[in-house]
Amino acid sequence: MTRFLDVPATYRLVADIGVPRFLSELAETIRADYLRWREFDKSPRVACHSQAGVIELMPVADSNLFAFKYVNGHPINAERGIQTVMAFGALASVDTGYPLFLSELTLTTALRTAATSALVARNLARPDSQRMALIGNGAQSEFQAIAFHTLLGINEIRVFDVDARATDKLVRNLAPWPALRIVRATSTADAVRGADIVTTVTADKTYATIVTPDMIEPGMHLNAVGGDCPGKTELHADVLRMSRVIVEYEPQTRIEGDIQQLPADSPVTELWRVLAGEVAGREHADQVTVFDSVGFALEDYSALRYLHALAQRHDVGIDVALIPTASDPKDLFGGLTQTAATPAALTPKQANAFAFTR
Ligand code: NAD
Repeated sequence: MTRFLDVPATYRLVADIGVPRFLSELAETIRADYLRWREFDKSPRVACHSQAGVIELMPVADSNLFAFKYVNGHPINAERGIQTVMAFGALASVDTGYPLFLSELTLTTALRTAATSALVARNLARPDSQRMALIGNGAQSEFQAIAFHTLLGINEIRVFDVDARATDKLVRNLAPWPALRIVRATSTADAVRGADIVTTVTADKTYATIVTPDMIEPGMHLNAVGGDCPGKTELHADVLRMSRVIVEYEPQTRIEGDIQQLPADSPVTELWRVLAGEVAGREHADQVTVFDSVGFALEDYSALRYLHALAQRHDVGIDVALIPTASDPKDLFGGLTQTAATPAALTPKQANAFAFTR
């Protein structure tokens, strides 16, 4: 049987654990998996692009578990009043191929993206960072705010979105966090001024330049989350040129990240090398650092593995028969004879109609 975790069950699980603890344990799981980087069979995600957006598959495996995520990106959905990013995914046994776990990943993607952003910032942002700008106040934004507040001690966030209602929602949702001061800015430049960390998490299927070189101050860390697809960027190319750029998996980020604007040999450093202590994250206090986040399959592998363990420990979710369980593995057809929709179970008239339509 395969354990299945739907959206209400995941909300319940996260509420039981508490968002800060969930983010902290998930960040630690992601860190532990990045430290095993060489053990994974990795590839850039497979994408089907359309006028409206993109639908992608993200596979990764080690010798024990295979994971994949289905995820879309449809900025146009905002005008339709529906979500722009949705996801689900599965974990399977590499040994047998059996799917062990099938889960919603929309809520979980927001959590894993925020956990990854905070994990990276812990290694790249100045340790005395206190103030963050948060540009784009949509579905991902509260998760980013809470991750930076609880995992990095950020206590003031200056927020801006071109849609004032999105900011209203963010302010409302973060009201129960009294130690986190939320300041509404009048523009991106206003939000970024004086910030130690700048998080961009906007959605627009275009080469946007949300952050320009004139906004950059020495020592800033930029957590660029929304530029994650060919033709979809947030940072001016000169911001990248003046910064130390950290990426998750270079072959994928070259295609999808903000660095798609730069030549293919522009200098970048993969995150796992920083986490493993092979290279420094930030090299000096005045350096500008950029995490060109696109979301890598390994983070979903970590999220699925963490969620699966939690679901078992808390007995949340249900076991579903996703795969046939015949006593004779060669008798797949036998299961059909148990159902009504076979020619043998039909009236002669229905059977004739069935034969004709075949
Ligand atoms: P969303 O549509 O809910 O929110 C995006 C917000 O950005 C909207 O409120 C919109 O008004 C705002 N916006 C658009 N252009 C803007 C601009 N020029 N200035 C200020 N605000 C602007 O989307 P979401 O689910 O919050 O996702 C945000 C982005 O993050 C998407 O691009 C998505 O693809 C990306 N994402 C990346 C990762 C990753 O791992 N890197 C993971 C999840 C989502």
